[in-house]
Formats: sequence, structure tokens, C-alpha cells
Amino acid sequence: MDDIIACFTHFAKLADADAGRKVDAGDPTVRSQVVYEPVGVCGMITPWNFPLLQAAWKLAPALAAGNSLVLKPAELTPHTGILIMDVFDSLGLPPGVANLVTGAGATAGAPLSSHPDVDLISFTGGVVTGRKIAAAASETVKKIALELGGKNPNVVFADADFDAAVDNALNAGFTDSGQVCSAGVRLIVEESIKTRFVDELVRRAEHIRMGGPFDESAETGPLISAEHRDKVHAYVEKSISEGCTLRTGGHFGGPEHEKGYFYAPTVLDDVSRGMHAVTEESFGPVITVETFTTEKEAIETANDTIYGLAGAVWTSDAGTAHRVSSRLRHGTIWINDYHPYLPQAEWGGFKQSGIGRELGIMGFEEYREAKHIYENTEPAVTGWFSMPEK
Ligand code: NAD
Repeated sequence: MDDIIACFTHFAKLADADAGRKVDAGDPTVRSQVVYEPVGVCGMITPWNFPLLQAAWKLAPALAAGNSLVLKPAELTPHTGILIMDVFDSLGLPPGVANLVTGAGATAGAPLSSHPDVDLISFTGGVVTGRKIAAAASETVKKIALELGGKNPNVVFADADFDAAVDNALNAGFTDSGQVCSAGVRLIVEESIKTRFVDELVRRAEHIRMGGPFDESAETGPLISAEHRDKVHAYVEKSISEGCTLRTGGHFGGPEHEKGYFYAPTVLDDVSRGMHAVTEESFGPVITVETFTTEKEAIETANDTIYGLAGAVWTSDAGTAHRVSSRLRHGTIWINDYHPYLPQAEWGGFKQSGIGRELGIMGFEEYREAKHIYENTEPAVTGWFSMPEK
């Protein structure tokens, strides 16, 4: 909830601060200015993970920039979308500015993405859906902003703070049971510390307490649905059949977790580049382990994905940290940390992780049209075309 408030505050400040700019035309008879106007009607299609936060990243900048909007939340998590519309009503937002449609992707999302009266579609979700939305939006040349998936590398050098790196590797992959687009599920660890590192990761993973939202001792929760849990399990089984070694997990929650779609924190070892385990997003609590011996190999492995959302590098050497972070083709890079983000800093993906950015300044620009107004204060005949006698 704090992150949602911070997001609205950030965009409110940007809206207050920016009233366009004057341009020096180099000619005293010309007044030139660039003003920013709302795009129009913005369609917003959001996923089920962090349902209100994902919506806030779109609602706040769209409203701050003066647009009207239609939100279509994920069919599994519509309630916070309904509640925030009530909040907008109670604040006196004029009727018709913020609108909500609920329903499935095919029947509610698809018509929104192709509707001729919608000027922009901002979508967060899977890459397959993103491609469909981009195709539908292209029919009427809508602006699009796509925040898609990730297969995010967590690169650990041998000189990293060992305990902090192991602890954050758990945080990277198992927070929210891995149902995080930026989850650091590809552990890429230097060969010389691999055995010790993975042994400790597995030991710690086996102590993670799963539980429901009302269980205060729970450290992570269930997956969103039985269907999603089965998808995660199928991903693990396919990875094992491909040659990966299951070090821990790989099964549903125990009897104490019967009420919920729990999946045990899972570590898959002996993974190499190109395997399904590192090319496909599982969107569950599954960390794969790859190794490297040189910095070049670490960078190549971390970049060997169609995605480019986020990643981390762990090292105590500032030179390594900066060289590697500048070469990783991902939209957010953490050095010696995993997961924090700031509303003031852009969020989004390189490559097939998306188009455009949310948050930061660019996350505001997505919702604005720039208009150049050029005024000639001394209109005159140009003299370019000949002037025939009357
Ligand atoms: P999804 O793509 O299945 O669904 C997302 C939304 O799209 C839902 O509201 C759904 O109803 C709608 N939708 C489905 N088909 C549609 C269609 N043909 N036309 C229009 N709308 C349609 O994704 P999901 O399973 O809800 O969420 C998980 C995915 O979201 C993961 O791939 C994850 O990486 C990604 N994600 C990305 C970010 C990010 O910031 N990059 C954040 C969260 C989630």
C-alpha cells in the first residue's frame, strides 16, 4: 500500500512541475512553445500479481496527465480494481474519467485493445498476450506500452558477500512464490563457489515457511490458482526430463498446506544455456543454477534470453560491478541487492520484456502528447511562389 501511495505522489509532483517549454526559434518574430496534452482515452490491462500496484503504475500517470481511462483488471483479481474506482468516486473525480470493465482477456481485454475510440493501450502481462495486444492495437495505430515477462539473471561472483548473496538469492527467486515479473530465478554463480553456494541455498530453501495470508509466521504464500500451480509443476518436470537435477522442492505443498495451491521452493541444478528451464518463464518458486568462470561468460549467459527486464550482480569489486551492469541488456540492474525499485526511476524491459517504461519520467511521458505551437508574430508574404498579375 505504501508503494501505491508513493506512486500517486510521484506522478502528482510531475504533473505540478511541468507546464511545457518555450523553444528559441532564433527569430524574434517567432514564438514557439511545446505543450503537453493528454493522449485521450487510455485502455489499461493488468495482471493478477500485485493487482493494485500494477494498476496504480498506469492509473496515476494517466490521471496526472489528464487522460480518461478504462481499466481491465485480471479476471482472477478484479476486486482491488473495483475498490479503487470507489475511491476515485469518493474523491470527486468527474463521472466517466475513470472506468472499469471486468472480464476475461478474450471478451473484455481484446475488444478494448482494438476499439477505435481507445487512443492508448498500456498492458502488463505475459509476452504471448502482449504480442496479441500489439497486433490488435496496430489496426488503429494506438500508442502501446507493454510491460511483459522476464527471465532474470542473478549473477554472483566469488568475491561477493557470501551470506548476503545467498539470502538475497532466496529473496530474488522465492518472494511471493516467484510470481514476480522481475524474480531473479536464473542464478548464475562463479564456478569456484558454486558447490558451497548452492548447498547453502538449498538448506535455506528447505526452511522457508509456506502459509496463507492470515498466518503471521508464513514467509511465502501459495500460487494464484490450481491451473498455475500445475503449469509450474509441468515446467519443473520438463526441466528434469531435459537433464536438470532437482536439488529440492519439485512438489506441491505438504498436508499442512492443503487449503491452497502451494508449491515448494524449488532449486534446479546442472542447467545450461539454451535449456527450456532457462528460456521459459515459470512464474513460480523455481531457481535454476548455471555457472561461469570468466566475467565475459557471466555477461553472455545473463544476456542469453529473449527477455530483458531486470537482473543483479553480486561482487565486492566496484570495477566488476560497473562493467557488468553496463553490459547487461536488462531494464533494471541491482548491484549487491535484489528487488528494490523507486517510483522516481523508470521500470521496464529491453528486448521482448516490453515497449516503453512505467514510473520515472518516461512513465509519465507515455500518457502525454507533445504539441508544438509555432506563432509568427509578424505574418508576411513569403515570396516563394510567383505572384501572377490580377
Ligand atoms: P496474461 O498475459 O495472461 O494476462 C494479463 C492480462 O491480459 C489479464 O487482464 C488478461 O485478462 C488479459 N488478456 C489475456 N488475453 C488477452 C487478449 N487476447 N487481449 C487483451 N487482453 C488479454 O498474464 P498473467 O498470467 O495475468 O500475468 C503473468 C504475466 O505478467 C507474467 O508473464 C509476468 O512476467 C507478467 N508481468 C510483467 C510485469 C512487468 O512489469 N513487466 C509485471 C507483472 C507481471
